[in-house]
Amino acid sequence: MKFLPFSSYSITGDATDCPICKSSQFTSISQWDRRFKRLHQVKCDQCSLVRHLPLPDEAGLAKYYAEEYRSDYQNVSVTPTERHRKKRIREAERRTANLDQNLKSGMHLLDFGCGSGEFVEFCGQQGVIATGFEPGEAYSTYAREQMGLNVVTGAYQDLNFDVKFDIITSFHVFEHLVDPLHAIEKMKTWLKPDGKIFIEVPNTNHILIKGFGGLHFAHTIGFARYSLEYLGAVAGLKIVDVFDEFDIGIVFEHGTPRELADIAKDGQNEMAKWTKGSVHKQYWRYTLSKLVGNRLTDRYKEYSAPSRS
Ligand SMILES: [Zn+2]
Repeated sequence: MKFLPFSSYSITGDATDCPICKSSQFTSISQWDRRFKRLHQVKCDQCSLVRHLPLPDEAGLAKYYAEEYRSDYQNVSVTPTERHRKKRIREAERRTANLDQNLKSGMHLLDFGCGSGEFVEFCGQQGVIATGFEPGEAYSTYAREQMGLNVVTGAYQDLNFDVKFDIITSFHVFEHLVDPLHAIEKMKTWLKPDGKIFIEVPNTNHILIKGFGGLHFAHTIGFARYSLEYLGAVAGLKIVDVFDEFDIGIVFEHGTPRELADIAKDGQNEMAKWTKGSVHKQYWRYTLSKLVGNRLTDRYKEYSAPSRS
């Protein structure tokens, strides 16, 4: 299907409750995405997760990736480009630096949704026994066959592993899911009792300030600092470390989390400025910047690099 502005996505799904806290209460924040397509997006009134309404179901999402994703994101290439690889290698360096004390030679690591495998490759070079999986056939095949990495093609719902892992990482994957609780519960089944889970996602809270580029169909859900903590807490995980940079990254481990009500309150404060009015304003700021170039605001210019999808 060709890209059609002002059209809707042909995606099925009828889930209207929050996939994390199950609340049915929400605040509408936008009827549009950054591609001028109709997309109803809401903020959960309890845990502050941002999501599409309704959320697509797993079948609808698979159909989207098979039929519409490539025309929506025309720079998505079949195999990773050199530019893509260089960027991912720089990210892998930063991410292993963040993990620092949690990452040691001889440890078993699993990268959940590893793309073309640069993080798996980088960890392997540090002496870590690194495995990855990726549902995208082209990238996972490239990682396995061209790069010689231990990368499996498959979706988390279908996979199991012979070993338990010391650390499971996931970079820019959870914002594409429709059932993040299922995913984190699945991670726990693959983890050693004293293992760590490191999830990094784009910070939705920053996206609003920095120009709306993160609100689009492939981002089915949007986390900020406290909604990510909330996800871990519902799964019985407590925080070890937080990296609140452009992205939001949290290292979790088994343990008693903070009270859900306290996390929810922090999240509501954090996301209080997300209203229909503020999102609408950012929408036009972002759209005009796209249409007339990045001259409109200096603030936008700083963040005009293509956002990850
Ligand atoms: Zn919620």
